[in-house]
Amino acid sequence: MSDAYPNVQLHIDGVWRDAEGGRRIPVINPATEEEIGSVAHCSRADLDAALEATERGFATWSKVSAFDRSKLMRKAADLLRERADGIARLMTLEQGKPLIEARMETLAAADIIDWFAEEARRAYGRVIPARAPGVYQLVIKEPVGPVAAFTPWNFPLNQVVRKLCGALAAGCSIIVKAPEETPASPAELIRAFVDVGVPAGVIGLVYGVPAEVSEYLIPHPTIRKITFTGSTPVGKRLAALAGEHMKRATMELGGHSPVIVFDDADVAAAAKQIATAKFRNAGQVCVSPTRYLIQEKVYEQFVDAFVTVAKAVKVGNGLDAGTTMGPLANERRIPAMEALIADARQKGAEVATGGSRIGNKGYFFEPTVVTGVTRDMRMMNEEPFGPLAMMLPFSDFEEAVTEANRLPYGLASYAYTRSAKTAQQVAHRVQAGMMTINHLGLALPEVPFGGIKDSGYGSEGGSEAIEAYLNPKFVSQAGI
Ligand code: NAD
Repeated sequence: MSDAYPNVQLHIDGVWRDAEGGRRIPVINPATEEEIGSVAHCSRADLDAALEATERGFATWSKVSAFDRSKLMRKAADLLRERADGIARLMTLEQGKPLIEARMETLAAADIIDWFAEEARRAYGRVIPARAPGVYQLVIKEPVGPVAAFTPWNFPLNQVVRKLCGALAAGCSIIVKAPEETPASPAELIRAFVDVGVPAGVIGLVYGVPAEVSEYLIPHPTIRKITFTGSTPVGKRLAALAGEHMKRATMELGGHSPVIVFDDADVAAAAKQIATAKFRNAGQVCVSPTRYLIQEKVYEQFVDAFVTVAKAVKVGNGLDAGTTMGPLANERRIPAMEALIADARQKGAEVATGGSRIGNKGYFFEPTVVTGVTRDMRMMNEEPFGPLAMMLPFSDFEEAVTEANRLPYGLASYAYTRSAKTAQQVAHRVQAGMMTINHLGLALPEVPFGGIKDSGYGSEGGSEAIEAYLNPKFVSQAGI
């Protein structure tokens, strides 16, 4: 792979090519605001071509044995590992995250491919004992059909790889509408599969106007399954469309994750761990910890320790050695942060550290800690999706759980306590798809990943993930 940022193309029917009509849009480096390249923007004709190809791709891929699908997927994982340095560099250029995070994401994507490759071989059906002699009752797992996947810019590879591999492992074909803002690294992920010989039509890759693409693909009769990661409002729109056309759907949407720190926790260690997690990917993470609920007795100790970590974060260009937090990924996140902070200040909050844009070139924002927050502030209700942490003291267990469950979101949640009883109760009582206690244990390929309530439905990890791409077919057979 050359060092230059590529002009990213579509991949349709086994061919890398430009859009019909040649339309392209620029790609911006968020650390420098420079135009670094461009990405092809598909037309309706391209989508029609991708749909025809995916239909044929499904016919081919669903007949490839699980054993052979698995082998090809593992080869793609190895190729991705070989190419990890170049891919990580592209990701940092287009998304902004530190190179080390980009490299970790690429290597994690390879591990996710391996996990799904193993699952491909274990998509077992079952035999149900029959009531009559000589009858066999079988449950056979069949691939659901061609999939349309819509993925965002915060984890350009990781958001694609879970959907892509769930589909491929199950025997489905897939059209990926990858993020226009960070198009090159996901294109390299697809290239790894193409280069190891995944047949034409099995994987399509398009970029375009997101709403135009989704409004065309979701109702289209060829598409049998939708999977989307992004904001709750967009997810609700796409889920409604999927429902109207009776398509299966997985929705991985926004969150506003509570962190409950009880006064019997190892407060210093907890503050260090969870503050470091906050500023990963500049807080642009759906499972990012956001509402810090701290028991009164340890509130000041926790906030002080947290602020110390926030102040030590080295914000800069992700390509520079030593950078621990890059810029926000796009320009519109700056006014979004500023508006949340202005609203909180106006309602009486205090900014313990940070609170402003850094410089005026590149979308850099200070790691920010806000105290004195109240429930009427926008930041306590809207997903911040940036380097913003809100601190709120609580007096007892019920108060903490009530606040944790107050919002319509239910994605990730975190807790710190030395009490086994409290740990058990908090895990039971907090309404969330995921909870991790006394450590950071989310998002491994082998564990479920997904939300409840307004955070969506379906899982993108664990053995549940492949089920999302399989239909159970019941066959009852008697001897003649
Ligand atoms: P947005 O809601 O405009 O877009 C979010 C993602 O959805 C983008 O990738 C976008 O291309 C896509 N999208 C938007 N409209 C679409 C449509 N009609 N059909 C198909 N795809 C569509 O917001 P944004 O400014 O890009 O990001 C900010 C918000 O998005 C954040 O506040 C956060 O809630 C959410 N977000 C969530 C995740 C996540 O991992 N769950 C990732 C990125 C963004």
